[in-house]
Formats: sequence, structure tokens, C-alpha cells
Amino acid sequence: MSKKIKKRILFDIYSNNLSDFKTNLKPNKIIPTEIGLYCPLCTQYYGEDKYEQLTLEHNPPNSLGGKDNILTCKQCNNSSGSKIDSEILLALNELDLMGFKPNASLKTRLYNQSTGENGVNATVNLDSEGKFIINISPANNPAVKDAFLNSFEYEYNSGLPLISNFESAGLSQKLNFEFKKPNKRNERLASIGLLKIAYLIGFEKLGHAFVVGKHMELIRSQIKYPEKEIISKPFWIHNNYTDDLLGVNIITKPKELKSFLIVFDLQTKSDVYRIGICIPGYDENDINVYNNIETLLCQGEGDLKVETNSYLNTEFDIKGENNSLLPIKFWEEITK
Ligand SMILES: [Zn+2]
Repeated sequence: MSKKIKKRILFDIYSNNLSDFKTNLKPNKIIPTEIGLYCPLCTQYYGEDKYEQLTLEHNPPNSLGGKDNILTCKQCNNSSGSKIDSEILLALNELDLMGFKPNASLKTRLYNQSTGENGVNATVNLDSEGKFIINISPANNPAVKDAFLNSFEYEYNSGLPLISNFESAGLSQKLNFEFKKPNKRNERLASIGLLKIAYLIGFEKLGHAFVVGKHMELIRSQIKYPEKEIISKPFWIHNNYTDDLLGVNIITKPKELKSFLIVFDLQTKSDVYRIGICIPGYDENDINVYNNIETLLCQGEGDLKVETNSYLNTEFDIKGENNSLLPIKFWEEITK
């Protein structure tokens, strides 16, 4: 399907969802049924006249195996997005490499005594047979690059007498270096990137009823200002999520963790990472879920069993008529 057609289809689906939502929310009022939708990130309204300002976006990002299945406005698409997305990719690439996974590839800086504080730019690759290949970027300052490449030491490994053939003599060259872990700030950006992916999946699957939730403004500001500590507690739950949980679920037990649980896969060249992110529900106190994750899971015993209901994910159909309020009704039913 062409991008153009896909964009039109999505526009129609979410426009219908919005007009159905408005009608069902205020059944006694006559609501103008203009065609349009809200950008889930900035909540600006985009009608037919502003159709050109909407863009088809990959969520999760294309580089992490996502599909183009959501509409956001150009402004949101161009702003903070690509920066936090690339931090996720970097963080996962590092996990690949640290786990010695085949085809891992990490753009990084290498440091040793020759490089000083700035290091040299390099790509560290692990091939499919587990062999390390390091490419020093040609874009480095030539003097720094040469100093780094010449900073090897000779190492003598065998008892054979020193002859001109290094290999048979057991003489090898050893280049010592290290690469630094990403700093806390970048890890923070990466985690906000995960929150953004989860939030957009919520909109994709549940429509406008999802983004009007009481606490969503908070989530949106955190996504908009990833460097600020708006949500300072952990919002992810590690678990072995099965395939049937991919999408939007509700955590039913323990009650303290009641929230939307959004499960998705991120794909690197080496591996697939399955992520579970909590987004607060519709009730006033639901924002406490983040405090509770910290208390129960991060400081607790760690073997807490989380039970979920995957109805939203398996049965709910945003395209169905009169379905727009269903997420809210279902939330109330399941969490009372
Ligand atoms: Zn927007």
C-alpha cells in the first residue's frame, strides 16, 4: 500500500474515532461532525484543511523495526523525536555488544593514554562468527587518529628467539583502549523514548479515549521535555511477556500496579528486546503506579507476580462503530 493511501486511511479511521467519541461523550448535544483528529503528542486539532501538516510516522522508530502506522503533526515529528529515538538505538546497540551478540554494532569513542579526553570516533562491530572488527572513523582529527593507531604495545608470547617474522616469533601487537558507558543523561533520554513509543501505541490501539486520560498531560510534557525530571520514578516493568501481551493490556494484580501495560518489541541487528511500559489509567490516584513500581518492584523482593488482562489488545477494535468509549468503560469495569 502506498504511503499516500495509508495516510488517508489512518486519517479517516481516527477522524471517525474522534467524532464517535465526541458524540458518545455528550449524547444529548449535536456535535458538528467535521473531519479531523488530534495530534497525540501536542493535542492540536488537524482538520481536513490542515491535512498536509500531518505525517505518517514509524512507531517504534524505523531503525528499531517499527511500522508507519500513526499520524502525528510535522512539528512534533521534527522536534525532540529523532534525538531520543537515536538514544534508544545507541543504548540497545551497547547491550548487543556487551552481550557479545552476533552482528552487534556500536558507534562509540575509544579512549587510551594517546587520545586524551576526547577519544577517537569508531565503530565496534561483532561479526556473525563473534569476531570483533573495529573501524576508526576517517572523520577523526588525523593527529589524534594516528597517535591512537600507533599507541600499540608489543607483547611477546612465546619462548622462541626474536626473529623478523613477528607471528612465528610469538610477538604480537596489543592495542589497549576502553570505551565509556553512556552517561546518565543519555540513558534518561533513551528511557523517555520508550515512554513515547508506549504512549503512541496507546493512541494507535485505543484512539482518542486514551489520550484524554487524566494523567496524559504529564506524560506528554515528559515526552516533550525529555531532559526534565517530570516523572522521576521508574515506569517500566521487566518480565517475560508472552506474544499475546504485545499491545495494550491492563494490569489487574496487584492493585497497586493497576495501569495500562504496553508491551512492544524493539529490533536491532542482533536481537529483539521486549519492553513493558506502564501508563496511568483514568482515576485520580492512578498516577501512584510509578511510586508503587519503585516500592514493590525495585526495592521489594523482586518475585512479585503481575497479572494482566489483554482484552484491549486482543479484542478491542478502534475501527468498530460506537467503540470509541470502550477503553474507558472497560477500564472502569476491570479495575473497580
Ligand atoms: Zn503535534
